Amino acid sequence: MASVTFDRATRCFPAMDRPAVDSLDLEIEDGEFMVLLGPSGCGKSTCLRMLAGLEDVDSGSVLIGVRDVTHLPPRDRDIAMVFQDYALLPHLSAADNIGFALRIARMARPPARQRVRHAAAVLDLEQYLDRRPGTLAGGERQRVATGRALVRDPRAYLMDEPLSNLDARLRAQTRARIVRMQHHLGITTVYVTHDQLEAMAVGDRVAVLRDGVLQQVGTPREVYRRPANTFVGGFVGSPAMNLLRLPLSAAGARFGALDIPLARGTLRAAGAPEIVLGVRPEQFEFLSPEDRETPGLDLVVDAVEDTGAVVHLHTTATSGRARAELVVRLPGRPAYGEGASLRVAIRAQEVHCFSAVTGRRLPGDTASAG
Ligand code: ATP
Repeated sequence: MASVTFDRATRCFPAMDRPAVDSLDLEIEDGEFMVLLGPSGCGKSTCLRMLAGLEDVDSGSVLIGVRDVTHLPPRDRDIAMVFQDYALLPHLSAADNIGFALRIARMARPPARQRVRHAAAVLDLEQYLDRRPGTLAGGERQRVATGRALVRDPRAYLMDEPLSNLDARLRAQTRARIVRMQHHLGITTVYVTHDQLEAMAVGDRVAVLRDGVLQQVGTPREVYRRPANTFVGGFVGSPAMNLLRLPLSAAGARFGALDIPLARGTLRAAGAPEIVLGVRPEQFEFLSPEDRETPGLDLVVDAVEDTGAVVHLHTTATSGRARAELVVRLPGRPAYGEGASLRVAIRAQEVHCFSAVTGRRLPGDTASAG
């Protein structure tokens, strides 16, 4: 086990006009489960490959523990990697696939067999050990690939979208298994995904990347509750945070006839006549039709997304002459259909405020208290 450090690590590909990974500074603690999260092409896999030694580091360095591994070949890094396509050997049984690295390392047979049996027990694979990969289902193949990393007792596990080939149910099941196994073994793990729900579910911390640049690193709760900028606010959370560019008034932000009060510190820091207001779907409050006193927004439902447990309303909101599309989630299971009208208030004390110039989170908003 060991910590992992990226110290201004940079990777440039000649075909690109910007670095694929740009001065990445990231410290992963010993035993931590760190998720690298971001949209396709943001540089997640390149980071992982730099750590594995499969990609050159053009400047900066990569450390495993206190050892600078920047220029070490992959075999000298003592890490184990689980790839998206599993890369299993088709002519070997599941047991031989799992134990392959031990055979290469010339480990004696009895202890090698013991390790394979242990990995198979942890991953619930005992009944599949004699089967070849071609005869296994996707989830079973994924577990064999994980088992192959598991037997090695490495200093760190590296996982690149290991669940992307599985259906939703198997994904959730295998995800839980990987988290349990990682907590049990306590081995530092770096896990790449573009799926923010998956990232939030498995990570001790999440590092969000965009265009090769680290945007924010924090616990899933921190990243959700205090996104560092509009990109993180919009990327983390499903459905996405509503982002509204609004003019500022003396005491807040104005959406048509509605004034949304903001903290003084936020107004001072805005540095522009506009602000970007972030409102999560759950940060609205239903206003009863009799209540015309409370300032609110008029919504017309455009579409209803019923996931079973929760209902999301895709709406068009109006106030005075202002109009915006908003996704709203109200408590319970409100029975609105397409075309229905309702009124909601914005819970002003929970909104997120971002600079309209830089997109960065502004200080002084009350959401920062959480
Ligand atoms: P995905 O989720 O789609 O796998 P990613 O976030 O992992 O994406 P990377 O695979 O790290 O992204 O790629 C980052 C950028 O670097 C992309 O624009 C990609 O096209 C580019 N890139 C990656 N590998 C190479 C390469 N060998 N040669 C040239 N460009 C590359």
